[in-house]
Amino acid sequence: MPHVLTDLPYDFSALEPYIDAKTMQIHHDMHHGTYVKKLNEALIGTGLEETPLEELLRDLSKVPEEKRTAIKNHGGGHFNHTLFWGSMMRNGGGMPSNELKSALEDKWSSFETFRKEFSDAAATLFGSGWAWLSLDTNGQPIIHKTPNQDTPLAQNFTPLLCLDVWEHAYYLHYQNRRPQYIDAFFNIINWPEIEKRYKESRNRA
Ligand code: MN
Repeated sequence: MPHVLTDLPYDFSALEPYIDAKTMQIHHDMHHGTYVKKLNEALIGTGLEETPLEELLRDLSKVPEEKRTAIKNHGGGHFNHTLFWGSMMRNGGGMPSNELKSALEDKWSSFETFRKEFSDAAATLFGSGWAWLSLDTNGQPIIHKTPNQDTPLAQNFTPLLCLDVWEHAYYLHYQNRRPQYIDAFFNIINWPEIEKRYKESRNRA
């Protein structure tokens, strides 16, 4: 199978008390695992088995029409979750440094304002989806949301940081208290990794 579910870069319990081990295990092994399985199934017979996932998601018109929805949903699910796991770490949080910090302050005047706007986006997303910090087509930081498993790649944005606000991401521990989950997320953000993504995208530009 061309796409594989890789292990988390940390233990299931690494993000406690902010995200509990049971949620992480179900979320990674079952939810993410199912996206990978269904993506592979959808790719069978398309000749796109070896095409990099990002390339497929950037331009779904290359995908046969009858497979497009499945590949958008399951491929997006695989892509988004991979980015999400890497967006977090044990003892994370705090603030980004250097260039990314300056970029956020240039756009939102302070890190706190950025945090508030990102949190508002995540809290007000209706139904299931994701909140993002991405770079737009001009390379400028932007906070946005995507429904379901849609990705920023479809808008030609470069994703940096994401938060899964599907109920499966938080319901066991937080039930309907999504704002508490969003607050907790800021204690486990892997800013060094987000900075790395930012630098890589600047180098490509
Ligand atoms: Mn999820």
